[in-house]
Amino acid sequence: MITVRGIVLKERNVGENGKFIDILTAENGVIELSVRGARKINSSFLSSTQLFAYSDFCYRESGGYRVLNSCEPIRIFYNLRNSLSKISLACYMAEVLRFCAEPQPDNDILRLFLNTLHFLEKDLRDEKMLKAIFEFRLMAEIGFMPDVVMCRECGAYEPAEIYFSIREGCFCCANCFKFNPDEWYRINISVLSAMRHILLTDFDRLFNFRTSENTMNILSRLSEKYLTSKLERSFRTLDFYKSIK
Ligand SMILES: [Zn+2]
Repeated sequence: MITVRGIVLKERNVGENGKFIDILTAENGVIELSVRGARKINSSFLSSTQLFAYSDFCYRESGGYRVLNSCEPIRIFYNLRNSLSKISLACYMAEVLRFCAEPQPDNDILRLFLNTLHFLEKDLRDEKMLKAIFEFRLMAEIGFMPDVVMCRECGAYEPAEIYFSIREGCFCCANCFKFNPDEWYRINISVLSAMRHILLTDFDRLFNFRTSENTMNILSRLSEKYLTSKLERSFRTLDFYKSIK
């Protein structure tokens, strides 16, 4: 019997009462568990295997499947369901994670997701901000860290005018800028500072910053473009989330 701690990213019904769940775990990335009898009304698995339940899952390997034996809920994030916008954002983040979360020696991706859901569920931060933090920080975690420290040409740290390239993952000051302007986004120092915070700060301080509405709008468009461009795909759940905003 194997025990893992993880959060449910997706449920798929199978047969009369069963379902498969994809869970994001700390060490093993995303794994699929078969939950027999999960949809029976008196199933002991009912709450701890629902979408966004964070639980300890104990399973056995059987016939090529991982079959759930028992589980213990830690946190359910149930109140995300009270807001269409929140649950849709959470579903988008879950779809991204199912696509790209690799097994990690540390558990930073799981931690990032749990923290983002916590701030989202409790209404502790603006949705746009949480989305931008999640998108940029996740990209850094899976190997797409942009270079936001200095102008790539001259090393300027705080230029007044800044151009950021999603494709190249770096920025350039106005003095050095001599590239195709279609491929670079003009941003200001507030946006760059927010990016630096999200990408470079210690995890414990990740969610502790404030910025203006305008900066947040630019940041959130940029982080979304960065993620979809690096992963080279769109997400149905993202389209839905944007359609209701
Ligand atoms: Zn420069």
